[in-house]
Amino acid sequence: MLREKVLAALQSVKDPEIDSISILELGMLEDITFHQDRISIKLIPTFMGCPALDIIKKNVEETVAKVKADEKIEVIFALHPPWTSDRITDTGRERLKEFGIAPPPIYIAESGEWQADCPYCGSTYTTLENLFGPTACRSILYCKACKNPFEAMKPVSTLM
Ligand SMILES: [Zn+2]
Repeated sequence: MLREKVLAALQSVKDPEIDSISILELGMLEDITFHQDRISIKLIPTFMGCPALDIIKKNVEETVAKVKADEKIEVIFALHPPWTSDRITDTGRERLKEFGIAPPPIYIAESGEWQADCPYCGSTYTTLENLFGPTACRSILYCKACKNPFEAMKPVSTLM
């Protein structure tokens, strides 16, 4: 089926900055619409500060064009619904760890705290002071258990 083929093609489009994770695993796909004359792919940008959207758009167009060459491919970046880091799939979170980047910290409602797992040793004994530092997509954290600094994707949540 065409829809499955397009999905498989999208699975092969990776984040330009973290090439082990696909845009599907990041939860960027909102909708695929098949029109008479074109395939419309609606994506939700993860971080507005990341300059990778043009690359993603181009890669999506090229990859999906291989599935259906005679069709026009339209890539739309939608701002609603907003992307939140819990759209990242479980596989996506694993892929981030393989890359040495902690998945976005999880907000623990009971304690009102953020919790990030160290991608090296899995400890949650980590510093979070600089979590909302100046970098657009990632922050540098420090694991107090294995003494390694590590990168974590910034959480984006509608709670914030
Ligand atoms: Zn550690």
